[in-house]
Amino acid sequence: MSDRKHNFNAGPAALPLEVLLQAQEQFVNYGGAGMSIMEMSHRSGVYEQLNEETQSLLRELLNIPDNYHVLFLQGGASTQFAMVPLNLLTGGKVAAYVETGSWASKALKEAKLIGETAVVATSKPDEYRRMPNLTNLVLPENAAYVHVTSNETIQGTQFKSFPDTGSVPLVADMSSDIMSRPIDVSKFGLIYAGAQKNLGPSGVTVVIIRDDLAGGAPEHVPTMLRYETHVKDKSLYNTPPTFSVYMVNLVLKWIKEKGGLAAIEKANAEKAAVIYEEIDKSGGFYRGFAHPDSRSPMNITFRIASEELEPLFVKESEKEGFVGLKGHRSVGGLRASAYNAVPLESCRALAQFMAEFRRRHG
Ligand SMILES: *Cc1c(COP(=O)(O)O)cnc(C)c1O
Repeated sequence: MSDRKHNFNAGPAALPLEVLLQAQEQFVNYGGAGMSIMEMSHRSGVYEQLNEETQSLLRELLNIPDNYHVLFLQGGASTQFAMVPLNLLTGGKVAAYVETGSWASKALKEAKLIGETAVVATSKPDEYRRMPNLTNLVLPENAAYVHVTSNETIQGTQFKSFPDTGSVPLVADMSSDIMSRPIDVSKFGLIYAGAQKNLGPSGVTVVIIRDDLAGGAPEHVPTMLRYETHVKDKSLYNTPPTFSVYMVNLVLKWIKEKGGLAAIEKANAEKAAVIYEEIDKSGGFYRGFAHPDSRSPMNITFRIASEELEPLFVKESEKEGFVGLKGHRSVGGLRASAYNAVPLESCRALAQFMAEFRRRHG
């Protein structure tokens, strides 16, 4: 497969080649059904089984306790920015937000449309270069929940641990690092993630919600935007994104085959280290954007000290078969997204390209 690129796209992002080949094999005739999975009723036994198995795989790999539901919804993580406050910000309470970068800010913006909010920690004064320390978090007395973004995809920062918020539910947007490391789900009231970074293609959003939080939506909240609707019908209230769920199923099996989340975490750490090492030994030619204590293994953000070289870096990298290295338009610079499916060889190849580029232009 030498015509495959070194894919460092931020999302939609690389999928495991094994998964793509398996999907290709099953594309026209899924499991001997004489049709593709896309052509089948979501009420069929075949699809129901796939839906259930995909839930079970998530439960198994993330070690999700029995009092949580796993949902497959649509509308992306961006719809969850609204759905979380619509369902949980009730009864005159205050939603507490941890403001860590572009995505946390967008989540906060939506909550403001729905109710009262408070920013309980922010790294804005640090230009979002590091995650704030949440050990002594002070919450409003009537906090509905605390919202965190586990990994800021655009700034390239990641929380290494999560606060104990006591009886106040902790809600996390894990879109860009779900399934990249083991997490203690019991610390959270609700976790959500768009699939297109670490889980599969776009089109499906995974929500993991604790039982006691699934039923309290105010009456005016539309049926499709109520968690209880999807809990009750096991994510089959309306037509689900069947092909996306199928792809998530294959990706989860791939993760399981790789040894589960502990093994994936180790592999991700090794991959990211190869690139961060090149940044750190470049004598200031490359500059990491994130503070070392908050560096994300998923999104490696950096600049070239001579910023005018950045477009050339992107152009030359594309010629060498690298894709997706231009930083997000809102912050500029360069970014390598090394999600689960990006192989170590691609990271090694990138580090080597970076070293050669430095030699030529340093
Ligand atoms: C990509 C991303 C989103 C937006 O996801 P959509 O599925 O496009 O709505 C939200 N949060 C984080 C952390 C992301 O990385």
